[in-house]
Amino acid sequence: MARDSENLEIAVAKMRKAGWRITEQRKSLYSILLEKSEPMSSKDILAVHKKIYSGKSMDLVTIYRIMDKFQEIGLIHKVGQGGKYVVCEHLDCKSSFHLIELCKSCGSAEEKHVPTKLISPLFDYVNKKHKFLSASHSFCIEGYCLSCQ
Ligand SMILES: [Zn+2]
Ligand SMILES: [Zn+2]
Ligand SMILES: [Zn+2]
Repeated sequence: MARDSENLEIAVAKMRKAGWRITEQRKSLYSILLEKSEPMSSKDILAVHKKIYSGKSMDLVTIYRIMDKFQEIGLIHKVGQGGKYVVCEHLDCKSSFHLIELCKSCGSAEEKHVPTKLISPLFDYVNKKHKFLSASHSFCIEGYCLSCQ
């Protein structure tokens, strides 16, 4: 898929910008998530890695560590109660706020834009009433997608 290779390029550029070395492990783990559009657990990722990159060593600890780093620079998001990982679909997007809609039935995750004028009042409220300062640019809502409703 053209979009996938484009995304991989942007992701690699972001890794470089963060001062990372571009290792095979990082590239292969990102590619696995990119090819699968549904959220994956660390175990899912490990299973796919074993299949595609048989012979290359990989373990859960390494996956956790790399997934944490991916999250740090916004390459992926952690969604749902199981804390599965999904690639950010808006890597090159300047829009300020993103909402991830996670389907409880089929497990699909879609990342969508939410207008700032809708979301700002919520953050203002949380800041004023709860004295909590939000630092997220995305969050996840669980529910049912159109085909599962
Ligand atoms: Zn995103
Ligand atoms: Zn976007
Ligand atoms: Zn669904």
